[in-house]
Amino acid sequence: MIDRFVENFADKLILLETKTGAHVSYKLMTPFSALLHDYVSIQVAAKKIADFIGLSGLTFVIGVAKQGENVAGRVDLGNHGNAVFIDISDETMAFPGAVAVTLCHELCHKWLQINGIRSEPEADNEILTDVTTIFLGLGKIMLNGCIAAKETQETTPIGTRTISGTIKSGYLDREQLAFVYRLVCAMRRVPPSEYLSELHPDAVQALGDCNASFGQCFDSRFHVPETTQELVDLLQKRIVALQVDFAELEKNVGYLMLCCETADGFITKGHKRLGLLLREFKEIAEQPDPDPALNFLRTLKCRCRLDQVDGELQTLGQDTNFYLRHLNAAGSFLHENPEHFPPIPSVFNITRCRQDGTKLRVPEESANMLVTCPTCKYRFAYNTTPLRFRDASTRVTASSTGHLDPTKGREAEVKSKLPPAQREARSKGARLGRLLRVLGINRKARSLF
Ligand SMILES: [Zn+2]
Repeated sequence: MIDRFVENFADKLILLETKTGAHVSYKLMTPFSALLHDYVSIQVAAKKIADFIGLSGLTFVIGVAKQGENVAGRVDLGNHGNAVFIDISDETMAFPGAVAVTLCHELCHKWLQINGIRSEPEADNEILTDVTTIFLGLGKIMLNGCIAAKETQETTPIGTRTISGTIKSGYLDREQLAFVYRLVCAMRRVPPSEYLSELHPDAVQALGDCNASFGQCFDSRFHVPETTQELVDLLQKRIVALQVDFAELEKNVGYLMLCCETADGFITKGHKRLGLLLREFKEIAEQPDPDPALNFLRTLKCRCRLDQVDGELQTLGQDTNFYLRHLNAAGSFLHENPEHFPPIPSVFNITRCRQDGTKLRVPEESANMLVTCPTCKYRFAYNTTPLRFRDASTRVTASSTGHLDPTKGREAEVKSKLPPAQREARSKGARLGRLLRVLGINRKARSLF
């Protein structure tokens, strides 16, 4: 697993290489052997660094001045002809290694400015500047001085005492500098004999640790053009493997959709059949004949017809239970993973008339209502109570849910405007109900109307 910071540094090096790579030397600057502790030595050092990174045309004027907290130095990037002013903090001056690091950093600010390279925000630009020091061959100085030590002798009334301390400079720590340094050396094919020489033992250690952790980033095969194609092939393989799984998933989705469509089609078909039966009986009930004997015979026929359809209605009920049981079990399994499947809707208040597809908005969380379609006047039992899942071992049936017993139902108020004809239809429905009661038709059969 390659860290995000690896990519960040690689991006910065790509920026530098793209803009200036062709003109940058692959040489590594040798660290200063003499201590930088006074104006003359730091002035000479700045000149050497400037020459090394190709800024020999400029005159760097180095001063020492108190800086804000945690500020080792600053460069004046204003236009002063050939002169560039750099201030080193008086605190940093006590640590010669840190002075060298600060000089490298501030000079690279100027180099970036000249080359028109900058990163936003400011904090990122400072990191880019540290990366630039290594890009320009100053890596050894940076690695040796990023944690600088000092030891001074102080005379006291009872003798001399040694005061020691360390200071950290730069925006990148030693591990990050080591990584960038190792990466730059890898991309330029600098051999270990060259990049490991003249380094402080701690810096060598940091490079060893870096190799152990990020060795895969310095793979020499990255120089071979075929490696990119290999990576593309590798990705392609992974993609194909995923696509194979997608195909399997798609088939499963297709099958489940087919199952849902089948069940939904069953509901529509069932309602249509019920509507048809209802119309057949209504026609008899709504056309009383002046001849009472004829009425008697018609009603008898009606009674016979009801016996005939009883078997059909029972089959319809059994099929309903079958679909309900299976879809409820599937839903119960799926809803255990709401992060992947939609959570159960909290509100069920939209339905549709299965005779003509009219969409209906009905009251929320209502049990056992009777809905009348404003378009075709078809009446059907419905409820909008929350969806429940039963344990798979529990038999779920339409009757056990209590949802399909509209005999206890109440009239639902359908939100769409109903034409006045509906009231007439309702009274016709009541007449039919009275007829059936008179006929003594059993409760189960009656519940279908
Ligand atoms: Zn309708």
